[in-house]
Formats: sequence, structure tokens, C-alpha cells
Amino acid sequence: MSEKEKAVLQQVGEYSEMVRHLNDIEIDIPQTELDRIDGALVEAHAFVRRRQYYFAAARVERVRREFDSILNRYFESLSPMTIDSISRSEQRPRTLDYAAGVFDGFEELKGFEANSADPAVVCGLAKLDGRDVMVVGHQKGRFEESYRRGGSALPQGNYKAIQAMRLAERYGIPVVTFVDTPGSWPLEEFLPAQRIAKNLEMQYFLRVPHISVVIGEGGSGGALAIDVCDYRIMLDKAYYSVISVSGGAAIIARDKRHITEDDLDRAAKNLRITAMDARELGIVDRIVPEPVIGARKTDREFFLEVKKAIIEGLDTVRRQVSFINLYEQNGPDSWRITRSQGRKLIRKRWKKYRRIGVYHSSVYDRMKHMLGEIYRVRWIHSVFTPFRKLMDLHRKMKTREEQSLLSAEEQPKTLSYEDRWVECPNTAIHGCQDIWVPTLFEEYSGTCPHCGYHFRLIIDHYIDLIVDRGSFREFNEGLESVNPLGFEGFDAKLEKAKSTTQRKCAMITGHALINGRPVVMIMTDVRFRAGTLGGAEGEKFVRAVKRALREKRPIIAVHQSGGARIEEGLLALMQMIKTSVAVARFRASGGTYISVQTDPTMAGVLASYASLGDFTVAEPNAQIGFAGIHVIEQTVKQKKPRNYQHSDMVMGRGGVDMVVRRSDLKETISGLLDLKKIRGR
Ligand SMILES: [Zn+2]
Repeated sequence: MSEKEKAVLQQVGEYSEMVRHLNDIEIDIPQTELDRIDGALVEAHAFVRRRQYYFAAARVERVRREFDSILNRYFESLSPMTIDSISRSEQRPRTLDYAAGVFDGFEELKGFEANSADPAVVCGLAKLDGRDVMVVGHQKGRFEESYRRGGSALPQGNYKAIQAMRLAERYGIPVVTFVDTPGSWPLEEFLPAQRIAKNLEMQYFLRVPHISVVIGEGGSGGALAIDVCDYRIMLDKAYYSVISVSGGAAIIARDKRHITEDDLDRAAKNLRITAMDARELGIVDRIVPEPVIGARKTDREFFLEVKKAIIEGLDTVRRQVSFINLYEQNGPDSWRITRSQGRKLIRKRWKKYRRIGVYHSSVYDRMKHMLGEIYRVRWIHSVFTPFRKLMDLHRKMKTREEQSLLSAEEQPKTLSYEDRWVECPNTAIHGCQDIWVPTLFEEYSGTCPHCGYHFRLIIDHYIDLIVDRGSFREFNEGLESVNPLGFEGFDAKLEKAKSTTQRKCAMITGHALINGRPVVMIMTDVRFRAGTLGGAEGEKFVRAVKRALREKRPIIAVHQSGGARIEEGLLALMQMIKTSVAVARFRASGGTYISVQTDPTMAGVLASYASLGDFTVAEPNAQIGFAGIHVIEQTVKQKKPRNYQHSDMVMGRGGVDMVVRRSDLKETISGLLDLKKIRGR
């Protein structure tokens, strides 16, 4: 074959791939235009075979012109929905492509005793610009989707990832992660949510720089499992979201049974999933522009851009922890950091996630918080002590006036004072009698006296059940949920939640006594937007943890939540990191954190602070899980039993320490609090 022939054939092949790519992504190019290009390519191919290069080249030239015209007309501004489809297109480079194109000498490591080599996650050592790095990333398959499960990591894969990162830490090598997953694999058998929570905690403590690159799909908790980074790079046609676009569409669709194209479009816009959105929300540090039709495996120059961005990210992180070592910027050890710099790096990481989240707080709250922050510094503390005592006094007075709301028995409780009878769900099996609602809640703590079935209880009852009567004092009650993304229809839903629950957000924090022992209580109200975790909740959680740390009190967290709040998008997703890190720091300083999982404890909350307790206590027949059961059944294409996510099943898998009857909850917690900790352990 002559050189000329090769060149033309190569061009024909390249354009054919590009046409295939355009067919693959969801963009409104009329099929006739693509067919015309296809036709010209077939002709060019025929001319090459007849050795009529002049005509072949002319056809290729025509294709080039038509292609340019398509790029000008259809790729000027892309809808979020198109970006979503490009992010998962078949020709997009995957982690292993970057490992080969950006680094030198990538060597995959498959061990780590993770109990599975999980091909959906790849880890390995490589050189970047002559310096060692650990590469970790989600790997999608091309023709072997069932093998790599489309980049959905098993808990074993996430464990492998964290082990690789810790190995890197031992050798002082920076970590570069590539995020490309629609979400973790949702089978409950190996505890996916609990694994993600552990990963969030452990990544925070890494004493080496961690750069992440979102190369395709940034699918919620599964993405976070390898993405608690110091510097986040995102390709401009990747997405990052708290939920898949179709999942989001199901929320805003007017007719839930028939999701239309329009619903999908609106969901993609409302969720703010693009790189530009993430940048605006302060979640991404740098965007790398891609070729107009999206990155493809063959774009050598594009890999160089990614490489440049990673190097710049590592240099930036390195500079943040040390100014002195600037002179050795390009040396072989320039990304290694010392012990003390490692500690500084961790503090920086905390600050980075601490500030994410939007909420409203009153002037009074802001002032209180500001003062609280000042108290942290010891010498100022002593100066302000008299003033603080005054503030405490004021708080106590305020407490008496306003906060009886939660603890006092004279307050109406929606469920307990309904004058009606309920049927126990186990009636058919155990022949339970119908129960009068007030009796059920007042005498039996919401459990069926015959079979022991635990009815879902509103959170106020737990205060009466767990803490000493009248001892609960709420704090930070002024933090208020808002609609930071301007999510369609959310304002009205939020108003409704606020008026039905008389709360400003789903989380309630306060001081209380348990058998005379002071504790900090953190609870969620499932009636407020399904008890979801948003900006206000995350902030409230962190403040409560800080308070517990300052006052050396144990934390009892009672969960009743559907997960991260979809309507707050990425800002809500990042609260998973924020809350998990808060718990991690608290426990590392010697604090006791007891997690109580009630019905329901799901998704993003289970995959973060709910799973990080020293002790995890669950209620009987509470629903505890990573995803909704129908989502799991659809994804893994298996039917699951009805009690698949019940607490006793979760305990069987090792997900909770004990399942405790509601009536014994207080004594169990009190017993755990009796355990004495030795300082410094
Ligand atoms: Zn019953």
C-alpha cells in the first residue's frame, strides 16, 4: 500500500469513527446529514480501492467541510443532557487510557487482599514527569460491560482503592484518582454504603497530596469513594451529580410513570451537573477543555492537556503546605512532603470541605457561632469566660422560653394523638390485634405488643425514649434550609416541610442527659424532606460535633433519613464528605460517637456519618440500605426478598453491631457510655 493510499484510508477511518461518535451521543443532528457524510466516506473508500486518489481526497475534503459545518451549528453550546451523553460515550478515554497516555510505565497492582480484584477499579504505580505517583480510578469496559460493571465499584474495589492510597502514603507518593462511575454497585451483600463511609473517613487522613480528575461520570457516593481530594480537576464534558439525570427526572416529572425527554432536560439543568456548574459551586478547582465533540481515545494532544493540569494541581497543593521548598520545584522528590506538612495538608483538606454548603442563619446564630469560634483559642477563651457565662445564661433563658417545643409532653405529636386504630403489618402472619394509635405510642413506644413490629416513629418520641425527661436543650436551631440551586418547585416543598414540622431544617441538635450523663444529641426528622442531608443539615452536624469536642461530651446520633438531598445537587453530595470528616476528626481526638439507625437510614446518610459510629445500634425491622430496593433489582437484574434491607439482615452482613428493641434503647446506649476511654487512645 502506498503512503498516499494509507493517508487517505486513515482519514476515512478517522472520520468514520467520528460519525459513529456523533451517532452515539444525544444531540439533535438530522440523520440525513450524518448519512450524507457516511455516503461520501463510502465513496472515498471505493475511490481508494480503484486507486483514484485524486477523487478520494476530494471526497475526504467534502467530508471535512460538512463536519466543520456540523460542529459550528450543533456544538456551539451544549445542553447539560448532551454533555451527560458525551460523558458516557463509547469512544471516551477511560482510566487505563489516561494511565497510558498521561503517565509513563504504568504498572497495575491487583492485590491488597481486598477479597476481589474488582476490575471496575484499577490501581497502579506510574511516573509523571519523572516522579512517582499512585494512580487509582474507575475503569469501564468497552465490550465487556458485565466484567467491569460499567465502572460501578464493588465495596471490595473501594477497599482496594483505599489500600492503594495508604500504600502510596507509606512511600510518600501523591495520589491521582480518575473518577468515572455511574455509582457504586448497589448489591447490599457486601455493604456498599458502609464501605463508602469508611473510604471518606480514611481518605481524609491521607498524608500525601491527592488530586482527582473527573473524566466521565461523577456518580454520587460512588464517585466520592475515591474523591476526597485536595485539588479537583474536571473535564468540560464530564458530569458530577448527586443522582443520575433519569433519577432526577423522576422527581420533577409531572407524570411519574412516563418520563419525557423534556423532564430529562429539565432535570439535567436543575441538578447543575456540568463542569461549569461545579466550578461555580466551588467544588472544582480547574476545568480542562475538551475537543469540541468530546475527548476520544485518539486525541494525543488532549492527554497532554490533562497531564499539564495534574502537574499543576500537584504543584499547587505542594505549594500550599510549604513555601520553603519552592526552589526544588522540579526535583524527583518535589511532591513528597514531610510529616508536619502532612498534618498541615490534612487541616487544609478539612477547611476545603468545611466551607461547602449553603444555608441561612439568623444574625443571632451567626454571632453565637463567631464567638464559639473565638473560644477555641485558649488565651482568648480565658478573657471571654465571663462573657461566655453571660451568653450561656442568655441561652438558657432563651431555651426555657422557646425550646420546650421538643421535649415537653404537652406538645401535640402528629402520630401519637391521632384518634384512630392501626393494623400491624404482621397481622396476616401473627394474627396481631389492631392497636389504638395513642396507646401504641404512649404505652408500647410504637411497637406492636403482640409481635414486636416497630412502627416508624417521629423523631420527637426518641427524645422522650432516649434522654432523661426534660433534659433536652436544642442549639443552632436557627440554621435554615434554602434552595441554593433554584431547583424547580423546591421552594414550595421546603415551605411545606417547614410548616408541617415547625423546623427550619431536617436536623435537630442539642444537649441532653442520659441517665444523668451529659451528651450531644444529633437527630434527623424524616418528615422534613425525607430527613435528607443538605447544606443546613451538614453545617448543623459539624457545629454539633465541634461543640461535643469542645465540651468533651459523647455524641448520640439518631438517624432517620432518605439520604443526600437531591434538590441541593452537588452541594448536598459534598455534605457527605463534610459530615464524615467531622466524625473522623471527632473520633481521632478521642470522642465517643454512637450511631442509632432507625427506620429509614438510607443512601447518602448511610454512606457517610451514619456508618462511622464507634458503635452502631439499629432498631428491629428498620430499613437500612444503599439504594431503593427497586433500583437495586433493576441494576443487578435479580429479585430481592422483602426483608433484604431490614436491620437484622444488615446485622447478619456485619453492617450494624446490634439490633436493639426500642424499649431497651436508652439502657443500651447508657451501657455503652459507661465504657471508659483511656486518654490518648
Ligand atoms: Zn404485630
